Amino acid sequence: MVSASKPGAGSCPVCAKPRDTKFKPFCSKRCADVDLNRWLSGNYAIPASPDDDAQDSGEADGKP
Ligand SMILES: [Zn+2]
Repeated sequence: MVSASKPGAGSCPVCAKPRDTKFKPFCSKRCADVDLNRWLSGNYAIPASPDDDAQDSGEADGKP
């Protein structure tokens, strides 16, 4: 089995470079900061969409 290099599996989630154990899970302090900033700004930009989707879209039953 070949395990391809999946993004996020062993690389920095910010720039996808190989991560450093020192800055786990990031590759550098800079990327850790970038991610933190994303979180902070994301906190103020949460879209007002409820999680439960009450839309009952059944699959097509294939009937003519
Ligand atoms: Zn990085």
